[in-house]
Amino acid sequence: MKHQSLMRHLNARRLYRGLTLGVLLSTWLSVAAPAHASDSESASLAAGVPIADVHMHLYRGLTPDELRAAMDRNNVRWGGGVGPVGPGYDPLEFSKVLGARYFPAGAQAQQFVMFQAGGANELANVDSPRFKALMEQLAGQFERKEISGLGELVLNNHRSSAMPGFARKVRIDAESLQAMYALAQKHQGYVQLHMDDDPDSIEQIESMARRYPDVPFILAHCMTRASAQVARAVLERHANLYCETSYRSTARNGAPGLRPYMIHTADSADSAWLAVIEALPERFMVGSDIYTKDVSYDAVIGAIRSGLLARLSPATLRKVAHENAQRVFRLPQP
Ligand SMILES: [Zn+2]
Repeated sequence: MKHQSLMRHLNARRLYRGLTLGVLLSTWLSVAAPAHASDSESASLAAGVPIADVHMHLYRGLTPDELRAAMDRNNVRWGGGVGPVGPGYDPLEFSKVLGARYFPAGAQAQQFVMFQAGGANELANVDSPRFKALMEQLAGQFERKEISGLGELVLNNHRSSAMPGFARKVRIDAESLQAMYALAQKHQGYVQLHMDDDPDSIEQIESMARRYPDVPFILAHCMTRASAQVARAVLERHANLYCETSYRSTARNGAPGLRPYMIHTADSADSAWLAVIEALPERFMVGSDIYTKDVSYDAVIGAIRSGLLARLSPATLRKVAHENAQRVFRLPQP
């Protein structure tokens, strides 16, 4: 008898706690979940807003016509910001078909060859004949307006490299790289670089951001595994640092082990990242980062629209989709 009443009492307490939790949860959800009128506006804007793909590579098997069709299909009005993934591609062939919609960056293919030949040391060696040849090529390309900036400079991917034999860690402030940043500055160009969020690399990019204040430095993949808090602190300290969010979408990179580093899926986004993007709406851009034929451009761009952009306020989503890129990469109105 005593036992039964005790059980009733305990069950009632459990029920009460459950109810309290339920009330709290539904209150929290109504705060956290969309309640403002802009949500449906954001969803429909996100579905159709023009996109600037600021991390668009050329890679094996991709033809200019195919790329143009993929961009048209997805209302990607501009693409570029990085280079071909290696040697043997002619960006000018793509410019012929895409015109000013394509804004290729310089140095990526040459650095690929340099790394293969001499490893990380070669990338940081200011006396290397390959480096001297690279600088001459880049100066000519800038002058002929064949490139508008430099990238993707793969400088620190020792934790994030997706391919065996591709990992390296180079000082972001190496003398050779500083010569490249200075060249970009001279031509009002940008620099897009891939670095993991190691504290020493962060310290180095911050010192470069101060030394080359007119160069927009775009942190590819927002430093690959950086937390929203770390990214926010770095961006807040330097007005010329930017983040692009490619590769941090499950549509691009489905590896379950990397799930914690993803910014968005096709139908959800990390709330901490959304908060940082809304707090610094001028500093984020989007990209595809596709370098093999087995990844669908439509799926990757689709997930940017439905997963990320649809969860931003209308003003922020326009900035992230294309307005920031137009300003930072000096893209022409189509
Ligand atoms: Zn890339």
